[in-house]
Amino acid sequence: MVVGAGLAGVRSVEALRAHGFGGAITLIGEEPHRPYDRPPLSKAVLLGEIDSTVVDSDLGALAVDHRPGVAAKGLRAGVLETTEGELAYDALVIATGASPIRLRGEGPQHVLRTIDDALGLRALLRQGRRVAVVGAGWIGAEVATAARRAGCEVTVVEAAECPLAAALGPVGAHTAPWYERAGIDLRTGAMVASVDLGGLTLVDGSTVEADVVVTGVGVRPSVDWLAGSGIELDDGVVTDEHLRTALPGVVAVGDCAAWWSRRYGRRLRVEHWDTALNSPEVAAATLLGGPGEGAVYDPVPYFWSEQFGHMVQYAGHHAGARLVMRGDPVGTRWSACWVTDGGTLAAVLAVNLPRDLMQGRRLIEGGQHLDVDRLADPAVALRDC
Ligand code: FAD
Repeated sequence: MVVGAGLAGVRSVEALRAHGFGGAITLIGEEPHRPYDRPPLSKAVLLGEIDSTVVDSDLGALAVDHRPGVAAKGLRAGVLETTEGELAYDALVIATGASPIRLRGEGPQHVLRTIDDALGLRALLRQGRRVAVVGAGWIGAEVATAARRAGCEVTVVEAAECPLAAALGPVGAHTAPWYERAGIDLRTGAMVASVDLGGLTLVDGSTVEADVVVTGVGVRPSVDWLAGSGIELDDGVVTDEHLRTALPGVVAVGDCAAWWSRRYGRRLRVEHWDTALNSPEVAAATLLGGPGEGAVYDPVPYFWSEQFGHMVQYAGHHAGARLVMRGDPVGTRWSACWVTDGGTLAAVLAVNLPRDLMQGRRLIEGGQHLDVDRLADPAVALRDC
């Protein structure tokens, strides 16, 4: 049984079949749709380039019983409670992802998580409309890009001192000029008190008038349905390095999984596409045992974002590491590296430099010692540092 029919859910079905599981698989999904990819929702879909992002997976050939429009409500050993009654299971994959946080207030606010959200929002992005985006994070930046491209007047309100502060710290400040160049009114250090009819009210009492409000202030793992199940919950479903939960025969994958990272010696929950794509492989091996038994999920986290004409890619985990800039962030191609006390690469952020991302990712995986002076010189290839 797989609960949650997003990318991690469908990848779990594929991985179980690839590992030779021939028994019945049921895929429960709250949404009424076939599994689809989310990254294009804030990019090609919002830009009007495509209408569908259905995952290229043949559910018929996988012989999976996909039940769209069915939500899981509770879990006890061997039994899943759903909106359509109880279902018995021998093994279970939790893949219920995450849901957007909404702000207080009576005014209409849009979030961007589902294909319906994306198509609904796209219809509102019209020439001259005033759009207020709350949050200059990954989603906020991509929504602002699309809204501007559609000819909207865009204001982005961000509580932190710079865009992407939560993900990148002060490095995020180097993306602020992108907003300005795109003709966006970026207001940092501005906290929204409420979403009201006609726009936003900020905590300092000022207002931002808007025809459309989009809230992009983060997500929470969709795990409320597991309360009281015996599964440990702590900012997601707590798992070990094999993605095993506290309940026998139950694993968790994708955005909702908070797994033990052997590499970083701490628990990680990474809300990015790469996790949904690759964690199911380990989860399937864990559930089925046999030759794959003992598989460990220990990736270097990776994600990308496309904003204001820039391809932004990040790999690693930089908490506690020292920042070394490579290249001039005023330019269009630069990167930032974070180096550990031990002199190895902890993380890399590459702007329009896929080569730095690729080489940096390998360096992080390999754990080689670096020459920091060479690292700071963008003329030296990362792999030669
Ligand atoms: P989800 O995709 O959230 O799927 C979970 C599914 O479970 C959902 O369909 C949900 O309805 C269902 N569900 C929830 N609760 C229940 C329940 N109780 N019962 C049954 N079903 C339930 N990542 C990147 O790396 N790069 C990007 O550029 C990028 N862009 C993104 C843009 C957008 C607009 C969004 C929303 C995300 C983006 N991401 C990006 C993140 C990436 O899409 C997610 O990490 C990925 O979708 C997680 O997959 P998942 O299957 O774990 O969860």
